[in-house]
Amino acid sequence: MNFIEQIIEEDLQNGKNDSKVHTRFPPEPNGYLHIGHAKAICLNFGLAKKYNGKCNLRFDDTNPVKEDVEYVDSIREDIQWLGFQWDGEYFASDYFEQLYQWAEELIRKELAYVDDSTQEEISLQRGIPTKPGIESPYRNRGVEENLDVFRRMRAGEFPDGAKVLRAKIDMASPNMHMRDPIMYRILHAEHHRMGNKWCIYPMYDYAHGESDSIEGITHSICTLEFEVHRPLYNWFVEALEIRHPQQIEFARLNLSYTIMSKRKLTRLVQEKYVMAWDDPRMPTISGLRRRGYSPQSIRNFAETIGVAKRDNIIDVSLLEFCVREDLNKVARRTMAVLDPVKLVIDNYPDNQYEEIDAVNNPEDPEAGTRKISFGKEVWIERADFMEDPPEKFFRLTIGGEVRLKYAYIIRCESVVKDENGAIQEIHCQYLPETKSGGAESGRKVKATIHWLPVSDMKKAEVRLFDRLFNVPDPDEAEEGQTFLDHINPDSMQIVEGYIESSLNLDNKAPYYQFERTGYFCIDKDSTPEHLIFNKTVSLKQ
Ligand code: ATP
Ligand code: MG
Repeated sequence: MNFIEQIIEEDLQNGKNDSKVHTRFPPEPNGYLHIGHAKAICLNFGLAKKYNGKCNLRFDDTNPVKEDVEYVDSIREDIQWLGFQWDGEYFASDYFEQLYQWAEELIRKELAYVDDSTQEEISLQRGIPTKPGIESPYRNRGVEENLDVFRRMRAGEFPDGAKVLRAKIDMASPNMHMRDPIMYRILHAEHHRMGNKWCIYPMYDYAHGESDSIEGITHSICTLEFEVHRPLYNWFVEALEIRHPQQIEFARLNLSYTIMSKRKLTRLVQEKYVMAWDDPRMPTISGLRRRGYSPQSIRNFAETIGVAKRDNIIDVSLLEFCVREDLNKVARRTMAVLDPVKLVIDNYPDNQYEEIDAVNNPEDPEAGTRKISFGKEVWIERADFMEDPPEKFFRLTIGGEVRLKYAYIIRCESVVKDENGAIQEIHCQYLPETKSGGAESGRKVKATIHWLPVSDMKKAEVRLFDRLFNVPDPDEAEEGQTFLDHINPDSMQIVEGYIESSLNLDNKAPYYQFERTGYFCIDKDSTPEHLIFNKTVSLKQ
């Protein structure tokens, strides 16, 4: 049981919130969701499920400048793909009128005032934590004047930045967030849902707790950086005397070799370091989906890392472990040769073919078997042969033996090279009595290699990915550098590979294991005429 579950179970025992649990996931629609959000989604939806409660999706759309419906749509899609369905769907902008009315109420209670100071002046008044700040000359404006000016702010009489509404709290508080924080700012900007209805917008701190309260949220779970905002969260709901949700903070997910800030991810997209938000190298949920991650693997990852109270960095290899573990259970096995060289079996009859049985998934007997046509010429992986092998090289060498998977043991006799000395053909003999499942199938060889029939295969573009950043913490930029200086220039390699011609490419089997190579999936841009596969992860670390 994690510390949040402990809090919830205590609340349930005490009959707090009528013994109900209601959480929410509150993304700002200013970018695509990433693996950190997946953590928060699994947590909020998971708690609702565990305690028979509810979980809302609330778009925190209080900043019109960076928000867009494209992001709203992608957020819905990503949450559903992860396997969760929200109870209520809301927008903070649904509450703009109510928030405005409450702001007037705070003015009437002499707990808010309009300040004509500039941003710089306000920041100077706030000062530093160790010394009390200075009160604004507008702090003691009368209620009537405040109401009048605030209404005129709403009516659009003033330009951006001319005035703000501030909460009247404590300019001497050691917590800077309590030094008369800004509640409203003037912003003549079009909102993706509200159009031009509003030209004043509430700040996050003013909007968030009230939105939670309106929706009946019981446990408002957020990341650690909001711990210092909690007194303010509480102050607003107490000043307004509305239902009081409880804010609980947990450590955000940080992953090695990854950045997670939406602002930085936006730069990667806009400045074309990656193809799009769903580029398979991106830590976005849509990127992981396109990369071939299963929803289950991401849920398992979130479960494995648990909920922490202190910030830490999780090694990205743990995420890779989780996807391997899940895909091992569900991925269709298939043979693919990504760097082909031809192997000729000299003692196999010309123009003769036999059907070889191959197992679709050893972890799942119901997945059945398929037939592969075996003949005199096959493709094998160039790296599976070496003319001058180092010690402990167990694959094919001249005079050596390996098994062709599901088929026969072969012995290599010679190679044919082109004028540059590159190997063009490998010549072998096969041992007919060693067919898999046959009389001498038990004969031992040190290696089994995969292959494809030359007469029967398809070509495919295969995209091999490496980490997008070449240092564990790309955010820790040295003097004069940014995260962009740590981009791995070789994070995508495109090869033409060969795949089994009978590969069933429908969406019912989206995950594949290319035997001995790794897990792969079909890219969304793939067509029957031009197949494209993405490498999810290699088989082993
Ligand atoms: P950014 O600062 O990159 O814009 P954000 O935290 O502001 O990210 P939001 O859309 O506001 O993004 O986040 C929605 C929810 O997801 C919040 O409750 C936030 O705490 C949570 N969240 C965001 N990033 C992470 C993370 N790395 N780990 C866990 N939870 C996260
Ligand atoms: Mg945010």
